[in-house]
Amino acid sequence: MIPQHAHCQVCGKAVKYGEAFCSEKCKKEYEEWMRKRRRMQLFLYAMIALIIIVYMLMIFSRSS
Ligand SMILES: [Zn+2]
Repeated sequence: MIPQHAHCQVCGKAVKYGEAFCSEKCKKEYEEWMRKRRRMQLFLYAMIALIIIVYMLMIFSRSS
């Protein structure tokens, strides 16, 4: 019987059940990836907001 285990979220190595990473290195790598992802999401939201603002300005400048 195989004991309950999980896989490292980064490299896929088998780890103890309840643990997400096999090493500190993988944990740091995952945190770095999450930070990058969050930054990317913020950037996308900023772009969307910018597009809406420009669009609104175009509508207002045309109607006046
Ligand atoms: Zn790992």
